[in-house]
Amino acid sequence: MEIKETKLKFREGMEKRFKVLEYIVIHHTASTRDMTVQEIHQLHLNQGENWKGIGYHFYIDKQGIIWRGRPEEMSGSHALDYNSVSIGICLSGNFEIEKPTDNQLKSLSELLQYLKQKYGNVQVVGHRDLNATACPGKNLYSKLGSVIANSNTPKDEYVKVFMSNNKLSVVLDNGSKFTFPFTNKEELLRKLSIGLKITK
Ligand SMILES: [Zn+2]
Repeated sequence: MEIKETKLKFREGMEKRFKVLEYIVIHHTASTRDMTVQEIHQLHLNQGENWKGIGYHFYIDKQGIIWRGRPEEMSGSHALDYNSVSIGICLSGNFEIEKPTDNQLKSLSELLQYLKQKYGNVQVVGHRDLNATACPGKNLYSKLGSVIANSNTPKDEYVKVFMSNNKLSVVLDNGSKFTFPFTNKEELLRKLSIGLKITK
């Protein structure tokens, strides 16, 4: 995973985010045009003196490139009442009417994995879970479950395998035991080559 650095210039007076991170909040631009991170930065600067620059910490364009927005240690400006305890990620698109690209979803999973490794198991939510808004749009919101699942670091699982006369036994981590009878070595190899069906 790569985060493209942007060297954006922010107005003075940004506040630090709280040390404890509670949420990672997912947004969309609500625009079908693939804006650049610099455009969004300018758009937010144009909102007035209170706006210090782009409100999101990360921006993922339609190609799936991850751009740095506001510095990670600074409080963002993306989710009313939650800015000091969250990191904001925005994806390019209006996901009420279009779908996120596969590259965007893949990059989002990778970014979430990186952030969760850095900050611990933070809760990932859609903007609409916190504020009254349609953001990040129904076509992205409905994908968040699988994106979050893909961002979880896989856990090691172990099985124990025993062999006795004409019987192969497999014991899973949770203690469940499965036995597979076979009559000769060829049959065992054939069974192993097609895979052992184990139901937890
Ligand atoms: Zn939003």
